[in-house]
Amino acid sequence: MRDRVGALGEIAAGTLQRIVREILSRRPGGHLVESEIDRVEVHLRFALRGAGADLGTISDDLTSRLERFVDDAIQRAAAFRPGHAFCHRCGGAACEHSEPPSARHVLVGYAPTGTPRWEDFAQVCLEMRHPEVDRLYEDPPAFVTLVDDAATLRSRLLGAFEAPEYELLGQVRAGFFPVRAREGEGRGVLAVTFQAAGACGRSGRSCFGLNILGKMPGGEPLDLLWDRSRDVPWSRAVRWAQAALATAGGGPAGRGGAAGRREEIERRVEGILRGLARRLERERRGRARRTSHAEERHRSGERPTRKALDDIRGARAEEILADERSGTLVVPGERGRIHFFTTDGKLVSSVRYSRDAIERKRKLGVWRDARRSEAEAFLRLLRGSPVPGSRGDGPRI
Ligand SMILES: [Zn+2]
Repeated sequence: MRDRVGALGEIAAGTLQRIVREILSRRPGGHLVESEIDRVEVHLRFALRGAGADLGTISDDLTSRLERFVDDAIQRAAAFRPGHAFCHRCGGAACEHSEPPSARHVLVGYAPTGTPRWEDFAQVCLEMRHPEVDRLYEDPPAFVTLVDDAATLRSRLLGAFEAPEYELLGQVRAGFFPVRAREGEGRGVLAVTFQAAGACGRSGRSCFGLNILGKMPGGEPLDLLWDRSRDVPWSRAVRWAQAALATAGGGPAGRGGAAGRREEIERRVEGILRGLARRLERERRGRARRTSHAEERHRSGERPTRKALDDIRGARAEEILADERSGTLVVPGERGRIHFFTTDGKLVSSVRYSRDAIERKRKLGVWRDARRSEAEAFLRLLRGSPVPGSRGDGPRI
């Protein structure tokens, strides 16, 4: 009896693994997660008798759960995949050539022997004499998108080094996205390369997906953007492009055989990439407008900055908080005034918060109590010298 149950269990286990592999090979973008999915979690529930007990119903329910699991993984991988490019020389995306050297670098093509070439995005715009190039250095920086077709990207790559299993169909280079930076990370901007790529699935059919290349100013993977703020500036545009690419491989083959078919696909993909660039720009404009509204509201109120000195005089060491994200000390003043200082005593900015907002930030751990010794040293430093003028580039709220 025991053996029989065990044997049936093995059949079921093998079948489950085969189902997942089959779903992965059929899903557009499945190639992005295939190597990363090493376990599957689904809640299993099925009827033994009655209306839902027929095998078709049970199978539909089970496969739809497994499909949902795979789709979630693809969605996450597509939008937040740690940004590695495919390296033709090493035949994968795990070598040292596959990663941009900094948050400002974008992929500019391939070296003849197949390694990805990266360049600073502002430098790229400078070389092509882009009209917005000066504004890329402003704060907030300008936002520029560049669409590259497949032929340009592989123009320098020698045929012998071109890996057949991976096909780059075009890309959008976009920057700069302003991001919250921590102290020591420099100006918080990043440039991102969005690549449309095709890969051969298990079934031999091509799947298309979007790969996102970039890294955070501190060198961490882009996932951190999601973990830090739940706010990824390209998420809606990317979701749209991912869905559009999923259908780009379908349709009847055009005239002219394989070459004609390829041309047809590249033309479709280029249209999608232009749509992606437009959406990225629209999303960015919307954000800039919302930010400037917030700044206007801040300016129109009574500027609490002048009161900083008075508030410092009245502050007690145990009231001082620390903002982990920006590395500043937070000094609560009267009437909801909050002053942000660097640890060496420079006033970064002053903002008014409601009592609720202050409480929320403490609860969420955005602000914690400053260490007593740190707070006392800070107050001694400030009371011994006048409060310097505002630098005006304080933590974004
Ligand atoms: Zn390599």
